[in-house]
Amino acid sequence: MELGFGAEYDAFRQEVRDFIGQHWPPADGNLKSRENERAFVIAATERGYLHRAIPKRFGGSEQAADIGKAEIIREELTKARAPAGRIPGNGLVVPTLLEWGTEDQKDRFIAPTLRGDIVWAQGFSEPNAGSDLASLRTKAELVGDKWIINGQKIWTTHAHKATHMFCLVRTEPDAPKHAGISYLLIDIRQPGVTVRPLVQMTRQKEFNEVFFDNAETPADMLVGERGRGWNVTRSTLKHERSGISSMTWSLSMFRDLVKMAKEVERDGAPAIKDPRIREELAAIEGQLMSLTYSTYRATSHDMHDRDIGPFQTMPKLYMTELAGRISRLARDIIEDDFTDMGGARLKWIERFMISLSMSIAGGTSNIQRNIIAERGLGLPRDRSQGAGA
Ligand SMILES: Cc1cc2nc3c(=O)[nH]c(=O)nc-3n(C[C@H](O)[C@H](O)[C@H](O)COP(=O)(O)OP(=O)(O)OC[C@H]3O[C@@H](n4cnc5c(N)ncnc54)[C@H](O)[C@@H]3O)c2cc1C
Repeated sequence: MELGFGAEYDAFRQEVRDFIGQHWPPADGNLKSRENERAFVIAATERGYLHRAIPKRFGGSEQAADIGKAEIIREELTKARAPAGRIPGNGLVVPTLLEWGTEDQKDRFIAPTLRGDIVWAQGFSEPNAGSDLASLRTKAELVGDKWIINGQKIWTTHAHKATHMFCLVRTEPDAPKHAGISYLLIDIRQPGVTVRPLVQMTRQKEFNEVFFDNAETPADMLVGERGRGWNVTRSTLKHERSGISSMTWSLSMFRDLVKMAKEVERDGAPAIKDPRIREELAAIEGQLMSLTYSTYRATSHDMHDRDIGPFQTMPKLYMTELAGRISRLARDIIEDDFTDMGGARLKWIERFMISLSMSIAGGTSNIQRNIIAERGLGLPRDRSQGAGA
């Protein structure tokens, strides 16, 4: 079997590779510098490789939709570890604003977001509203021409770096659970907002609790209709799950795993010689191949406007399980040597811990199983189920 996108796409892939080869890594070799990343993102956008679906007037590339080209760009950028211009919250709010925002909201927020001048945090989860997101209680009252917001959010990734939050609030306290929710844009660098970091088991501080105490946002910062924010949220969640499910991440992690298995010694021989490890590596590679083929199959169906059926519900769960399996094997190869926390070992231990968080972020694995059972397999609905952030 020969798998590929065809000659036209092969030529496009070469073009993208050449472009990346000229622009990344940057001349001074500093992969983490904000200026270098920004310069690359601007050049790639001008060339038509990034922000492809976004009109030029909002700072995008305005290319015709082409799923094959989008996939090729994603693969090549990931392979070269080049910046893809994606800051987590930004990738969610921009498509949501394109779909639901007023012209004024699009004009004010999209271009500065793509430039990185505005950075967004996602204010969905609350202490008692995660999977059952519609139970959220943070409230907003319209007083004159402003919304006054009170309540608390939790697990807010990058809120400490963000300038703004797209936030779900309860605006109709007496309406049924899903009906009284609105979607607001809030400047979070104001006196009424307190951002408190939560320390993760990786020792990083990536997410936060956020408290609103009479915080304010103008009346026209409502996205979609008042009390109809649940529909707007569905768009955001769709983009979140497809972002998490990209297979390129697990492919590059697997390559690193094989490399480590060749380098790390067990009983005087490279770990890759151990039959149990070889067997597990082979099983993982088999799963990766099936994920790759299934993803290409779905891409091909998508390119030809054919329904991909139940497959669209599977990748997030499958990828999460695979990332867990890869990082568990890495941990076994390292043999839980937590005393040596330097360099490559620390990276793998962190990856292991991150794989656990992936099974929660963007809707937990149990919730994904429910979705597959109900929407994919047509099984009866779980009466207690909401939707995760
Ligand atoms: C790395 C990371 C980043 C995050 N970033 C953000 C962010 O930026 N903004 C934001 O708003 N939120 C964010 N979250 C929060 C995330 O969306 C929630 O943690 C998630 O939706 C689960 O909610 P919960 O933590 O309240 O768990 P719960 O909903 O309390 O779930 C606890 C357990 O019960 C299970 N469960 C619950 N309901 C059902 C059901 N009906 N059927 C079967 N099992 C069920 C779950 O699967 C889980 O195992 C982030 C989380 C993580 C891990």
